[in-house]
Amino acid sequence: MGISVTILGSNSAIPTTERRPTAQIVDVNQDYTLVDCGEGTQIQLRKYGIKFQRISRILISHMHGDHYFGLIGLLNTMHLLCREKDLHIYAPAPLQKIINIQLEAAHSKLRFNVIYHELSMGNCGVICESKQVDISSTPVKHRIDCFGFVFQEKSHGINIRKEAIQQHNLTLEEILQVKAGKDVIRESGELLKNKELIVDPAPLAKYSFISDTKPNPSYLDAIQDSDLLYHEATFMNDMSKRANETFHSTTTQAADVALKANCKRLIIGHFSSRYHSLEPLLNEARQTFKNTELAVEGAVFNV
Ligand SMILES: [Zn+2]
Ligand SMILES: [Zn+2]
Repeated sequence: MGISVTILGSNSAIPTTERRPTAQIVDVNQDYTLVDCGEGTQIQLRKYGIKFQRISRILISHMHGDHYFGLIGLLNTMHLLCREKDLHIYAPAPLQKIINIQLEAAHSKLRFNVIYHELSMGNCGVICESKQVDISSTPVKHRIDCFGFVFQEKSHGINIRKEAIQQHNLTLEEILQVKAGKDVIRESGELLKNKELIVDPAPLAKYSFISDTKPNPSYLDAIQDSDLLYHEATFMNDMSKRANETFHSTTTQAADVALKANCKRLIIGHFSSRYHSLEPLLNEARQTFKNTELAVEGAVFNV
């Protein structure tokens, strides 16, 4: 159980030979969500041995190409690999039109259903509920409509301690009551409190993805208390003017968001291709938020 994040790409608009544009796989108990799909994402999936067909849904944060130019290629490959399972895509409205034009021009008809869910700045909140996780969108502050995403793991259910069953000789009916979260009151009047019979529930993981944006209070509440936060840090602090003009964040601003939102760990990414070494960005962020890591390709973060 828990959430695992694999970084597939973490560069900003221009890919380099070492770094691809944004994409990552969020794995909740083998149920995969692809977050953004920059150019070359399908090659990265192959490189890291991630099965395409396990991807249940794709979230696209916004319509800048470094976040979706890999999508038509990935859909085409899923088709060639004989995918039959529905694929859900959560994205701003223009995406569906763009994909359809490309398919129509090639006289291609995918052999699986693509179900589009339009993201709207005026209607953020829970966009997807699966057995394991709730996924929400949150508005961020970029040049065009752009969304952050929050993954909140759901309860794993109630487990009764084996010793408690033996000690109290619980009947099947009583066990069902405990599993439903109730106390047990016996005919003798004896009260068995639910919390004394069950295994302490494991903490539920929360992961937040925020890219691209300038720092803004619009998403602070949504990401509050995340176990892991991915936040873009396109520039170092000496480029803060440029960051502000292009609606991006600096390393220190990303770290400051993690601090303000009381997050446990921070991953920074969406690096400008001007940076060959990322160590200076990491060091700068760590001056404000110690528990920071770099989103390097292939890195896996477990929550
Ligand atoms: Zn971008
Ligand atoms: Zn952008």
